Amino acid sequence: MSTNNVAIVGGGIAGLATALCFARKGITTHIFERSAELQEVGAGLQLTPNVTCILRDLGLLPALQQRWFEPEVVSLASGISLKQLGTVPVRLHSEKEWGAPYGVLHRASLQQILVNAVVENPLCSLYLCQSVESPDAQALRTPFAGNRPDLVVAADGVWSRLRNFVPSGPDISFSGNIAWRMTIPQQDAPAFISRDSVTAFLAPSAHLVTYPLRETNSINIVAIGGGINPGEAWATPAGATQKALLEQTFRGWNPAIRTMLLSVPDVTFWPLFEAGAGRWHNGNDLVLIGDAAHAMMPFSAQGAGMAIEDAWELANAVSQKPMADALAQFEASRQKRIKMVHRRGALNKFAYHASGPFRLGRDLLLSLRAPSSFAHDLDWLYGYRAVNA
Ligand SMILES: Cc1cc2nc3c(=O)[nH]c(=O)nc-3n(C[C@H](O)[C@H](O)[C@H](O)COP(=O)(O)OP(=O)(O)OC[C@H]3O[C@@H](n4cnc5c(N)ncnc54)[C@H](O)[C@@H]3O)c2cc1C
Repeated sequence: MSTNNVAIVGGGIAGLATALCFARKGITTHIFERSAELQEVGAGLQLTPNVTCILRDLGLLPALQQRWFEPEVVSLASGISLKQLGTVPVRLHSEKEWGAPYGVLHRASLQQILVNAVVENPLCSLYLCQSVESPDAQALRTPFAGNRPDLVVAADGVWSRLRNFVPSGPDISFSGNIAWRMTIPQQDAPAFISRDSVTAFLAPSAHLVTYPLRETNSINIVAIGGGINPGEAWATPAGATQKALLEQTFRGWNPAIRTMLLSVPDVTFWPLFEAGAGRWHNGNDLVLIGDAAHAMMPFSAQGAGMAIEDAWELANAVSQKPMADALAQFEASRQKRIKMVHRRGALNKFAYHASGPFRLGRDLLLSLRAPSSFAHDLDWLYGYRAVNA
């Protein structure tokens, strides 16, 4: 083992998962989180088999299964006619073909399960109200008798401050897209909203994803369309201007969808920023993971999933190799994987938001394909096993 002195900045999904993955390798970590409490940000998350197999190895599956819902299918439907265009049978396929379950849950549930596991683990320490903006910050030295930790893991999200200390690190830019996130009680949801599946409604320039959340007996709704750069913002309550933009984006959609969207009182506004190409470590003692490294649009619902895969592979590399080699291995392996996920996300964006002849071609293609053939298209993504040499 090359280290036992690891500091993690950020107690989101990436930071908490990293602490648990290092603990599994016998390595102590100290997590510094700027918030006074880990808040219920976000709404629903889809956790796919490439990620749930890691959470299972961390011993978290029983807690997840108590809270999440395992959807029957992921279906694609027209946002104009509501007609179903294609389905992927995820419940049947997940354990059998991809070796682990597929679940949907509230982000706060996942975060709470991770926090509970961290708090119970003697190798993990979590410090709240600790904002860290530099790898040289004094706070990071406190648990290490005044010395600098061997490794600082920057899990401080899309607006990472530590990213500035990685030479040639990625830049962040506005993707041109906005997500509006909301939930509605299941009893208030219109009949066309499935209570047992994930549905992506598609129409030119926008799409809408819905799925049930068992913990809150609600339907999670994410609406995504174009917008202009609002500057540094993340999960703010939508005011009149942002709601007007939602209304305008979904003009021309099926009236039942519009009525549903416009009747929700509490909507959260998420401008979507993406990380570009760049280095993720300084070759020595600082590494970026999760959104700090590769913030991506949610077109393949993999942001948190990739953060958890990062955590697993980083702990694996650091537990086996000298630090410089471990960081190089981590970056090479993860950048290859993220590139593929980005490519899939771009394809989904093109297909979901297609218009004119592309839309007609898409609908024809979807109608001709068997559900199992859609599922096999995802083998590389959901059947992936994070490196565990
Ligand atoms: C609309 C939408 C839908 C999504 N759906 C899915 C999905 O279905 N499946 C999926 O896998 N992913 C999904 N994602 C992506 C996922 O939410 C993110 O990729 C994931 O939460 C990133 O986790 P993180 O820990 O890297 O960053 P964050 O969750 O942003 O956590 C960063 C943490 O660092 C802390 N922090 C920041 N700065 C400092 C500092 N200076 N000092 C100390 N602490 C600091 C923050 O307070 C925060 O707790 C979705 C995202 C969006 C926007």
